[in-house]
Amino acid sequence: MNQVEVLETPIKSEGDKKEYRLIKLENGLKALLVRKKKDENNSNDSEDSAAANLTISVGSFDDPPSAMGLAHFLEHMVHMGSRKYPEESSYNDFLTVNGGRRNAMTASEFTTYFFNVAEEVFPEALGRLEQLIEAPLLMQNSMQREREAVDSEYEMINSSNAVRIQSIVKSLIHDFHPASKFNVGNLKTLRDNISDEELHKELLKLHDKYVANKMYLAVQSSKTLDELQSLVVEQFSNIKSGNEEVNSVIVARDNPEDYFKPEFFNSVHYVMSKTSKNSILLAWPLPSIIEHYKVAPLDYISNIFGNEGEGGISTYLRENHWVTKVDLYTDDTNLISKSSINLVRISLDLTESGIENISKILEAVFSYLLMIKETPIEEHRRLYNELKEKSENSFKFHTESEPIDNVLDNATNMLVYDDADILRGKSIYQRFDAEIISDVIERLNQRKFGTIILTSKHESYPYREKYHNTEYDRIAFPDEYQKLWDERKVKPNFFLEKSNPYKTTNFDIFENDDESPIFPLKIFEDGIFEVWHRLDNKFKLPTIQLKMKLISPIFLSSTENLSMLKIFTKTFEFYLKAEFFDAKSANYIVDTSIDRNGMKFSFTGHSQHMIKFYDNVTKFLKNFLEMADQETLDAIKENLKQSLSEKLMTNYILNNEFTGKVLLEHYHSDFDIIDQVDKVTLENLRNFKSKFLSHLNIQILAQGNITKDQALQIVNLAKTNIKCDVVSEEYERKQRCYQLPQGNNVLRLKSLMLNDDNSAIKNFYQIGPDTIRTRCMTRLAAMILNPKAYDYLRSKEQLAYGVACFFREKGGIVALAVLILSQEGKHSYSKVCSKLDTFINEVCRETIDQMTDEEFERYKDSRVKQLTADDLDLDSEVDRNWKEVVNQEYIFDKFQIAAKETKNISKTDFQEFFKSFTDPDKMRRLSVQVIGNHKSEEVTTGNNKSRKLEVEFINEKLSDDESLITNVEDFQKDLYLYPVSKFQIK
Ligand SMILES: [Zn+2]
Repeated sequence: MNQVEVLETPIKSEGDKKEYRLIKLENGLKALLVRKKKDENNSNDSEDSAAANLTISVGSFDDPPSAMGLAHFLEHMVHMGSRKYPEESSYNDFLTVNGGRRNAMTASEFTTYFFNVAEEVFPEALGRLEQLIEAPLLMQNSMQREREAVDSEYEMINSSNAVRIQSIVKSLIHDFHPASKFNVGNLKTLRDNISDEELHKELLKLHDKYVANKMYLAVQSSKTLDELQSLVVEQFSNIKSGNEEVNSVIVARDNPEDYFKPEFFNSVHYVMSKTSKNSILLAWPLPSIIEHYKVAPLDYISNIFGNEGEGGISTYLRENHWVTKVDLYTDDTNLISKSSINLVRISLDLTESGIENISKILEAVFSYLLMIKETPIEEHRRLYNELKEKSENSFKFHTESEPIDNVLDNATNMLVYDDADILRGKSIYQRFDAEIISDVIERLNQRKFGTIILTSKHESYPYREKYHNTEYDRIAFPDEYQKLWDERKVKPNFFLEKSNPYKTTNFDIFENDDESPIFPLKIFEDGIFEVWHRLDNKFKLPTIQLKMKLISPIFLSSTENLSMLKIFTKTFEFYLKAEFFDAKSANYIVDTSIDRNGMKFSFTGHSQHMIKFYDNVTKFLKNFLEMADQETLDAIKENLKQSLSEKLMTNYILNNEFTGKVLLEHYHSDFDIIDQVDKVTLENLRNFKSKFLSHLNIQILAQGNITKDQALQIVNLAKTNIKCDVVSEEYERKQRCYQLPQGNNVLRLKSLMLNDDNSAIKNFYQIGPDTIRTRCMTRLAAMILNPKAYDYLRSKEQLAYGVACFFREKGGIVALAVLILSQEGKHSYSKVCSKLDTFINEVCRETIDQMTDEEFERYKDSRVKQLTADDLDLDSEVDRNWKEVVNQEYIFDKFQIAAKETKNISKTDFQEFFKSFTDPDKMRRLSVQVIGNHKSEEVTTGNNKSRKLEVEFINEKLSDDESLITNVEDFQKDLYLYPVSKFQIK
């Protein structure tokens, strides 16, 4: 019989209804068993999915020098079949047929595998995962394809600025430390520099390190803890244990800076930015402090850097318009463990004028660090204790997460925290320790940091980093900077956060005793307002969610007004940040956003001060422009242009922009907004505000721990503070959609990212108006076909790492879309396009035509489970309801209706349906293709100074059946516009 040791049960949050047991098997595997009981109050037969995560403390630090990226490659190869389940895609297929998904991740010192799946097949799924880990096939002849997948992934992340900066940091670490290794892997390290036999041998050798005493398993299900324990014992006791106790990684203790080359400290590295983003990174190698997690010294200091109110560095830098964001953090996915380098970074995102003022920014950072050092320890104790109290409250009232996220956290936490702290380790400040905190502050006040500047505006980038080909330059650390450091003084603007007026002390919950309906009720309506309310009786937390939308017809056909609204909102956010930082710090948060007819507000926070918070924010909305100045406005405009341009350089976003432009009437694209921004002045912004706020329709939804009377109090505050009149004219809030002509409509353009290979191609099959039936059928099709896209386009054809097949609704018209993120250098777009055709016409058609009745029922079942799944937290419930209010549809039980409808779909109807919109003779297809710029010339200078976003169409037909769109307006001229349609239940 197997011996099981039951360990100390982790401490859980008061509101957490799950049951926990921590055990250790005889072979050394540690497992956290989590039981989440079914909700008895829930009338429908829904159920959460079950989930599991297996984390193994073997990672890319274990890569042999002859095959870098091997741990990542092993993570891929493990999924290619096991002794008991030999077919390559069987694990994946099993999970998707049963409504689940899987993922995996390789970090420096661990690899983690996880999945979720329908409860009733959980035991089998867990057994399949165990087989992959214990007895994967790891066949030499499946290596080629997965190698391509790894290489695709490598190509895809190559243009990421974060990866490029990281590559420079790695290149500055001495070879003897594993953090210097290239961890992703590509065709060079896994094919060209090593023979297949050798690679295969190394692969098996690395897999030998997957031993039970390095494994941490977390499972969550509705089974009892005893059942879960038998299941885990039965399935995981066969895994062999190893004798190696500790990782073979060098332990960095007192002088972690010794692991870095001298250039790291005595130079400034300029890294070429792939986008319009500019930033500064200062990085200090500190000894690992993970064992001090109860004190959390870095979280504490990070909090001081996060002060966006009075006394904070961010307030000062923002007021000078140099910096948009300041962060202090340590990278805990790649460098998490007890043993490796703990690189503490301060990162600052710069504005255009920030690039011209780098020395002033550095002066401020140096001064701020000194302020932290010179602040008396008692002052630190005061702030620490406030944060401690706050962290305890948020742990107490924590909201539930998805099972798959829970197990991921649990298993990786088991790696680093004491048993008692597995659930709360990261989120709680447990103990102020003056010595530990002072030590970290002292270390950050030594001139032992590296400086990296990300920009495209440096004169030249003569060097190349060897694995990611990152273009960079290196200059000696300027005397000027050194002098700033040596002569730094504390600026009077800098001090620790003061005590907070929004501090919450009352956590009472209102009882909802009557049999109130589970949906929001309309409690007030006049020509202006439409107010919905629901006192929560389900989650029972002392918090409120308050949504508000200010709607005006002035945006519908005017890009100018919409650009104004965008800047108005950005300016509001800018001033709000400093004015309401104390509220934010006490967890009273307001987010704003815009859509095409108005401005949306989302307030969240505790009940105690919510009404006061709402009152203050709405007053501020009316008055904040009085404090605005032209210089700030100019900086906001500049940032807006920069961030919109950066977004448009992301291929799939550019792809979406053009999809919207072609399909929707009066589509306002980000290009239009960029064009309008320069025209905005402070004066016309003030005029705009008066015009916008003078005539409105206002929608409000108040949910959570809030009574009806309080919700009505909110309405009165809105009346007094916003003071608007009724909109007199009739107007239609919804947007109309064009019907695509039959055939293959193609819009092909070049990516805006220079010297970058990545493409985004999307085929969009227009179906028709959004009725309950078309929606349910299309959603079902997407659910069935998405994994097929992965199997065929990614695994079989190796065309791309990123593929997806999904449902889309635009202007009330439904479509099925297939998206692929490929690389032009590997596969030309003509090849990708033809494979996409094969995918729909052969792979999908076959899947749908040949599925058995039983398979079809199973798919429907999974879909019904997704639809009837309980809302996880108040957020998801409110978001769902708010969407109904904003869309003016008010079908709060839409998912239940859809579940019923889905159950009634017959297989023949479904097959007919799929044919109806994919048949090449009848289809209405739009293919938007953003094509990567195949690396032809080396860009060595950053002469991108005034780069304009010029879209370049590729006006070349691939075949006769393509109707090429070369001018969007011309294309739309004769098209039929669908009438405005609301979602129809019948
Ligand atoms: Zn991968």
